[in-house]
Amino acid sequence: MRSRFSAYVLGLKDYLLATWHADFRPATLSLENGPEWVSLNVLSAREQEYSAQVHFVATWRQGGQWGALEERSDFLKEDGVWQYTCGETHEFPLRPGRNDACPCGSGRKFKKCCAV
Ligand SMILES: [Zn+2]
Repeated sequence: MRSRFSAYVLGLKDYLLATWHADFRPATLSLENGPEWVSLNVLSAREQEYSAQVHFVATWRQGGQWGALEERSDFLKEDGVWQYTCGETHEFPLRPGRNDACPCGSGRKFKKCCAV
Protein backbone atom coordinates (compact mmCIF):
# COMPACT_ATOMS: atom_id res chain seq x y z
CA MET A 1 0.00 0.00 0.00
CA ARG A 2 2.83 2.36 0.87
CA SER A 3 4.45 1.46 -2.43
CA ARG A 4 1.28 2.55 -4.25
CA PHE A 5 1.33 5.85 -2.38
CA SER A 6 4.98 6.30 -3.43
CA ALA A 7 3.97 5.52 -6.99
CA TYR A 8 1.36 8.29 -6.88
CA VAL A 9 4.00 10.68 -5.51
CA LEU A 10 6.42 9.75 -8.28
CA GLY A 11 3.78 9.48 -11.02
CA LEU A 12 4.55 5.80 -11.75
CA LYS A 13 1.42 5.04 -13.71
CA ASP A 14 2.58 1.59 -14.89
CA TYR A 15 3.22 0.45 -11.35
CA LEU A 16 -0.20 1.67 -10.23
CA LEU A 17 -1.94 -0.21 -13.02
CA ALA A 18 0.16 -3.33 -12.43
CA THR A 19 -0.87 -3.45 -8.77
CA TRP A 20 -4.52 -2.80 -9.55
CA HIS A 21 -6.66 -5.94 -9.63
CA ALA A 22 -7.68 -6.68 -13.22
CA ASP A 23 -11.38 -6.81 -12.32
CA PHE A 24 -11.29 -3.29 -10.90
CA ARG A 25 -8.53 -1.54 -12.86
CA PRO A 26 -9.54 1.51 -14.93
CA ALA A 27 -8.82 1.38 -18.65
CA THR A 28 -6.66 4.47 -18.39
CA LEU A 29 -5.18 6.44 -15.57
CA SER A 30 -4.23 10.07 -15.79
CA LEU A 31 -1.95 11.59 -13.18
CA GLU A 32 -1.46 14.85 -15.05
CA ASN A 33 -2.82 17.93 -13.33
CA GLY A 34 -3.24 15.91 -10.17
CA PRO A 35 -2.33 17.26 -6.77
CA GLU A 36 1.04 16.81 -5.11
CA TRP A 37 0.79 14.05 -2.50
CA VAL A 38 2.76 15.09 0.55
CA SER A 39 2.12 12.65 3.36
CA LEU A 40 0.60 9.32 4.23
CA ASN A 41 -0.76 8.29 7.59
CA VAL A 42 -1.77 4.64 7.91
CA LEU A 43 -4.43 4.42 10.60
CA SER A 44 -4.86 0.68 10.55
CA ALA A 45 -4.02 -2.33 8.45
CA ARG A 46 -5.47 -5.81 8.60
CA GLU A 47 -3.91 -8.59 6.64
CA GLN A 48 -5.14 -12.12 6.17
CA GLU A 49 -3.77 -14.77 3.89
CA TYR A 50 -5.37 -13.54 0.68
CA SER A 51 -7.04 -10.28 1.60
CA ALA A 52 -6.10 -7.09 3.35
CA GLN A 53 -7.70 -3.82 4.29
CA VAL A 54 -5.82 -0.60 4.88
CA HIS A 55 -7.31 2.55 6.39
CA PHE A 56 -5.26 5.65 5.68
CA VAL A 57 -5.29 9.39 5.25
CA ALA A 58 -3.21 10.88 2.44
CA THR A 59 -2.60 14.61 2.34
CA TRP A 60 -2.19 16.61 -0.84
CA ARG A 61 -1.56 20.16 -1.91
CA GLN A 62 -2.24 21.95 -5.14
CA GLY A 63 -1.48 25.60 -5.53
CA GLY A 64 -2.28 27.12 -2.16
CA GLN A 65 -4.94 24.51 -1.40
CA TRP A 66 -4.59 21.54 0.93
CA GLY A 67 -6.78 18.54 1.25
CA ALA A 68 -6.92 15.01 2.51
CA LEU A 69 -8.18 11.75 1.15
CA GLU A 70 -9.30 9.20 3.69
CA GLU A 71 -9.73 5.72 2.32
CA ARG A 72 -10.42 2.17 3.39
CA SER A 73 -8.73 0.19 0.65
CA ASP A 74 -9.25 -3.46 -0.07
CA PHE A 75 -6.50 -5.65 -1.44
CA LEU A 76 -6.43 -9.22 -2.72
CA LYS A 77 -3.32 -11.33 -3.07
CA GLU A 78 -2.96 -12.96 -6.47
CA ASP A 79 0.11 -14.93 -7.48
CA GLY A 80 1.82 -13.66 -4.36
CA VAL A 81 1.25 -9.99 -5.22
CA TRP A 82 -1.05 -7.63 -3.36
CA GLN A 83 -3.49 -6.00 -5.72
CA TYR A 84 -5.75 -3.09 -5.00
CA THR A 85 -9.42 -3.78 -5.68
CA CYS A 86 -11.49 -0.86 -4.47
CA GLY A 87 -11.87 1.57 -1.65
CA GLU A 88 -14.36 3.63 0.25
CA THR A 89 -13.10 7.19 0.02
CA HIS A 90 -13.84 10.43 1.74
CA GLU A 91 -12.21 13.70 0.67
CA PHE A 92 -12.10 16.87 2.66
CA PRO A 93 -10.27 20.21 2.50
CA LEU A 94 -7.61 21.15 5.05
CA ARG A 95 -7.24 24.73 6.21
CA PRO A 96 -4.17 24.78 8.41
CA GLY A 97 -3.81 27.71 10.80
CA ARG A 98 -0.46 29.50 11.00
CA ASN A 99 0.36 27.82 14.33
CA ASP A 100 -0.91 24.38 13.39
CA ALA A 101 1.39 21.50 12.58
CA CYS A 102 2.23 21.71 8.89
CA PRO A 103 0.11 19.24 6.90
CA CYS A 104 3.21 18.23 4.90
CA GLY A 105 4.23 16.16 7.92
CA SER A 106 7.50 18.01 8.60
CA GLY A 107 6.66 18.38 12.28
CA ARG A 108 7.14 22.16 12.07
CA LYS A 109 4.50 24.83 12.43
CA PHE A 110 2.71 25.73 9.24
CA LYS A 111 3.88 29.37 9.37
CA LYS A 112 7.52 28.21 9.54
CA CYS A 113 7.14 25.60 6.85
CA CYS A 114 4.95 25.48 3.77
CA ALA A 115 3.10 28.73 4.51
CA VAL A 116 6.32 30.65 3.83
ZN1 LIG B 1 5.34 21.95 5.44
